[in-house]
Amino acid sequence: MDAKDNGQNTERKINFSIWYLIIGILVLSLIRSLFFGGLYEESSEISYSEFKAALRAGKVENVTVSQDQINGVMRDEQAFTTVRVEDPALITELEAYNVDVTGIVTSDGGVGALLGWILPLVLMIAFWYWMLKRMRGGASGGMFSFGKSKARVIQGETSGVTFRDVGGADEAVSELREITEFLKDPTRFQRLGGKMPKGVLLVGPPGTGKTLLARATAGEAGVPFYSISGAEFIEMFVGVGASRVRDLFEQAKKKAPGIIFIDEIDAIGGKRAGAGAMQTHEEREQTLNQLLAEMDGFESTRGVIVLAATNRPEVLDPALLRPGRFDRQIAVDLPDLTGRQQILKVHASQVVLDGDVDLEAIARITPGFSGADLENVVNQAALLAARDGKTTVQMRDFNEAIERVVAGSERRTMAMNEREKRTVAFHEAGHALVASLLPGSDPVHKVTIVPRGRALGYTWQRPTEDRYLMSEEELHGRLAVLLGGRVAEALVFGVVSTGAVDDLARATDLARRMVTEYGMSPNLGPVRLASDPQAFYLGGTHGLDARVSPQTAAQVDSETRRIVEEAVNKAWQLLENYRDVLDELASRLVEHETVEGHEVASVLAERLDHKGSEPDTIRVA
Ligand code: ADP
Ligand code: MG
Ligand code: ZN
Repeated sequence: MDAKDNGQNTERKINFSIWYLIIGILVLSLIRSLFFGGLYEESSEISYSEFKAALRAGKVENVTVSQDQINGVMRDEQAFTTVRVEDPALITELEAYNVDVTGIVTSDGGVGALLGWILPLVLMIAFWYWMLKRMRGGASGGMFSFGKSKARVIQGETSGVTFRDVGGADEAVSELREITEFLKDPTRFQRLGGKMPKGVLLVGPPGTGKTLLARATAGEAGVPFYSISGAEFIEMFVGVGASRVRDLFEQAKKKAPGIIFIDEIDAIGGKRAGAGAMQTHEEREQTLNQLLAEMDGFESTRGVIVLAATNRPEVLDPALLRPGRFDRQIAVDLPDLTGRQQILKVHASQVVLDGDVDLEAIARITPGFSGADLENVVNQAALLAARDGKTTVQMRDFNEAIERVVAGSERRTMAMNEREKRTVAFHEAGHALVASLLPGSDPVHKVTIVPRGRALGYTWQRPTEDRYLMSEEELHGRLAVLLGGRVAEALVFGVVSTGAVDDLARATDLARRMVTEYGMSPNLGPVRLASDPQAFYLGGTHGLDARVSPQTAAQVDSETRRIVEEAVNKAWQLLENYRDVLDELASRLVEHETVEGHEVASVLAERLDHKGSEPDTIRVA
């Protein structure tokens, strides 16, 4: 939606400037004719010979001779103008006929030229200046302030968007709420010496409400919102981006507290080394450097917070993510069932719903839809109902609208059927359960079957501490977790699906490294067999050093397979023993789409309380 807005804005801007130009030219010609045309208004243009004839006939009263024109008045009060030709005898003749020569202007530096040309020019420049000022919404600036930022100042109160307009996204909202608290009363947080983050990066797929959340944060805190889109930095003039950044921060700091929002920051914040058109590349780099400098140069204690949004965090320059810059990231994911229902509720409040509309049912059949998609569904449904002349929007309209949005959506929206949903649910439950059962692995933070990117679902483990070393035992555990999804499918359905490609690739890669890099295969011993990654062109096949014998290479393969198979067996054993927990988790996933880590833990704990733990299996590692 915001992209559309931007398009309209630019269009309007272009229209504006064309209109200003046309009006300006009209006004200028009017001024010119009023002020300067008036002097000669009734003068008739005559030829030089006519003028000479009139002169010789004694009809000419007075003349003003300029470099290329002669203006004058006849004795009958008729004014005239003629083109001056090279005529050395003219002056003598004028005197001879007693003509009053009121001024002979021989160069173009005279008063007439001044009035005729310089004044309109000054007016023209003044007009341009005024126009530019108008165009940037009254932002102050010098005469040539092309670099003044186009940040639009929107008072938080008038933007009107609050967290109530955001459906779902509970985690993001609660993190942003902390920021609104700070902006409302910066001193409260500083009393104890705490520092707020300067920069917060909203990361998530398109249409999930990142821009909306940023606006709502400003609206909620009631502070001004200075927003600019990364793409805007790159437009028009070279070298302007950096000064826009400077100005944006200047403005915001002057009126602190406030929020600076840089939408689509990947447009300027892309990695600096890399291909691309030379010019834009340089422009981008300048802008990025200025942004980094500004972020280093201000104190968050003053109540200014920089929010940024991107759907491609992986292309961001690492310098942007360093402490003191965008060091806090907030994930804004595709909404789950509850989230979708809430978003539908937000947008459906704008339309007249029929009694038969069940928002939960709509949410249930729209996994993979973003907030923007759902807004579109509501809108389309309302349009369809209106087209058919209905007074309310019915469930039928929603069903048709969903089809339209699915068909029209660029991102292949996944409308999963129940069987697929069940498969994905068991797969993810398998990962989560193995991860929870193995003592060394990172705790499960969240399991979901909401599709994300290429994955149909994912299990999110959150490390409790920074890890630099992993023991052999932990690596075996990690393998079992990776394979837990596929194993659960095989255990429950007797067949496996294609859903485990990524898991297999990662597991195989890890097992292979355990053999060839970490020396963790007892059969091959603690030797390095992998090729030097920097010297891959020097030979060596399949990632192995060129000096490794074919027999050893075959052994690497079989050892890799053995390690992976061991992990499969371990996962199988665990899931078989805890089959009831697996079923419970999977059915919760089918029902709610997302299961939080603490829920996984409590389901497991309940089971352990009831039946007692089986130490032999839980200790498997
Ligand atoms: P993004 O910036 O992440 O691409 P936007 O904030 O521009 O997404 O969202 C586009 C539109 O979709 C919003 O204006 C809003 O109407 C709707 N939308 C997206 N997410 C939500 C949400 N969580 N709740 C309510 N509406 C949403
Ligand atoms: Mg956006
Ligand atoms: Zn998986």
